[in-house]
Amino acid sequence: MARVLVVGAGLTGGLCAALLKQKYSVSVTVWEQARGLGGRMNTTCSAHSPRCTADLGAQYITRTPRYAQLHASFYEELLAQGVLKPLTSPIEGLMAKEEDSHFMAPQGISSVVRHYFEKSGVEVSFGHYVTEIYLKDDKWEVCKEAGDSEQFDIIILTMPIPQILQLQGDIKNLMSESQKQQLRSVRYSCRFALGLFYEAGTQIDVPWAAQYLPNNPSVCFLSIDNRKRDTDAADSGPSVVVHTTVSFGKENEDKSLEAVQEAILQQVSGLLPGLPTPASATCHRWTYSQVTQAIPDCPGQMTLHRTPLLICGGDGFTRSNFDGCLESALCIMEALKPHL
Ligand code: FAD
Repeated sequence: MARVLVVGAGLTGGLCAALLKQKYSVSVTVWEQARGLGGRMNTTCSAHSPRCTADLGAQYITRTPRYAQLHASFYEELLAQGVLKPLTSPIEGLMAKEEDSHFMAPQGISSVVRHYFEKSGVEVSFGHYVTEIYLKDDKWEVCKEAGDSEQFDIIILTMPIPQILQLQGDIKNLMSESQKQQLRSVRYSCRFALGLFYEAGTQIDVPWAAQYLPNNPSVCFLSIDNRKRDTDAADSGPSVVVHTTVSFGKENEDKSLEAVQEAILQQVSGLLPGLPTPASATCHRWTYSQVTQAIPDCPGQMTLHRTPLLICGGDGFTRSNFDGCLESALCIMEALKPHL
């Protein structure tokens, strides 16, 4: 049985694992550097109560009429199983087109990714940071930061493209100059997210569930996360999510998370003067937040080596949203067909 390694337990990795196990009789291994799954579809628990959570990356899923048709079965499944629900809470400043539909994940956005890993039946290996990839006896030898290595027949890389370019070993010499050039041309925005977690019973007195702030130089989005997800926070406590602007992200890229957290909190207290003091807070730097310039012509995937197969995908090959990741995973499956 072919051994396939998927690197990354974000949405693209989850979709690849589920589609692989659905279509082929292969052994699938997933290595993820972090301690939890979701990648940029991240749901973080508060330090004071694991039931108080906040979506620090992706907020909701927008479905256009084109993808309502093309990806109908995927949406139907997520809606039928309650992983997604229509977004009905008031979002101020949402530039919505009438023909689009918006969905939120009541269990937190990472539950969308968890859905696909559960469907695949594959157990993700966390704390597995891939550092080097070598070609040995027609197989891939993949090294982890921990020092040990394993062999695989096929590799699928799903991390942001700059992290693919950081990998060491034979992989560096296997890419053609034109591939390297295309990969280097991809651009991501950098921004920060702050999650504020409150004790049960705390009241947050604003008339919206979330709000875009198009004219603020530092903060671009605020959300009362439990309200956005239409979940009862009576027992768990509410949470607030703050996303900074890309220009704030750039200006503060090199500062410590503590300093950035302080700067964001100052901005928030100006915007929401009555906001109570949180029980805990988490500040996250999204170095590779959303793709601002994808691979030319958005091919969905790039085959770096044919035999044995080494392929990469993710939103850098399409665009930064649910349908972009799904399109990429489906392109990866097409490219895998002749090899399985
Ligand atoms: P990722 O989620 O980045 O997954 C890659 C995984 O690879 C990560 O878990 C990473 O830890 C792991 N990894 C990296 N390097 C290694 C290594 N060397 N070894 C092992 N593992 C590794 N999309 C929407 O649809 N709606 C939104 O509202 C929305 N808002 C967003 C807001 C923010 C702030 C951000 C950051 C993103 C937002 N997006 C949104 C975009 C969406 O989250 C992404 O397009 C999508 O999650 C990308 O998934 P992915 O699996 O391709 O990559």
